[in-house]
Amino acid sequence: MTGCQARCIAVVVTGCTTLSAPGYAQISTRGTGVSEPEPVSQTVRLVVEVTREAGKSAGHPWLARGAGRQGNPSGRGLCSACGVLAGAGLGLAAHEGGHLVANWMLGTDVYVKKVEGGGLPFFAIAHRDELSRRREFIVSSAGLWAQAATAEWLLTRTPRLRSKRAALSKGLLAFHVATSVLYGAAGLGAFGPPERDTRGMAVAMGGSERLVGAVLLTPGILDAYRYFYPSATWARWVSRLSKMAMLIPLLR
Ligand SMILES: [Zn+2]
Repeated sequence: MTGCQARCIAVVVTGCTTLSAPGYAQISTRGTGVSEPEPVSQTVRLVVEVTREAGKSAGHPWLARGAGRQGNPSGRGLCSACGVLAGAGLGLAAHEGGHLVANWMLGTDVYVKKVEGGGLPFFAIAHRDELSRRREFIVSSAGLWAQAATAEWLLTRTPRLRSKRAALSKGLLAFHVATSVLYGAAGLGAFGPPERDTRGMAVAMGGSERLVGAVLLTPGILDAYRYFYPSATWARWVSRLSKMAMLIPLLR
């Protein structure tokens, strides 16, 4: 691993972690006990692998057509990391955009709220209105629906993404995997700020937050698997089914 690659990986992992943090939103807030995060070494390893792969996407034509790229591999790697971070930023925009569209369609009074989780300050898109359970579930889930749909579109359109020069797409997928794992762990461990999506979804559907965490964790892990093993048909379909399972509470 070159120094450039090491810097690239550090930037990508740090960026995805930072961008993942705001991925909580929705639910009219009520106080709950907040406990410390638990280690999730296995899934974290998958996330790091995907982000590391994304960071390897140096030398992209769209990134490195500038003068002097042949003689400046360090600058090229840095540009590649910027592309991956931009992709992660798009993932964040898709997630938060999903919440905003849902709120807009339901006519709720939205505002940005400062929250904190795990010692990290970030924001949440919240609403002042009291919503029915069904509507609460929709606005809490919409961000995850949006990012799951985006990842599915990406992996369906480009199943062999790993072998492509596509830093933006890889950053987008890395964001999806990282936040799915983060949400899955938050749901399973019931940790994080009261505004977290998993709690909003569980309260709205009158179910277990652990179940919500498991449902959200599954497509994240399977999409990471599809990235490394694009010919695995079972992973493709189980991932799609797990994403569709996120809609099941709407049938009630
Ligand atoms: Zn969210």
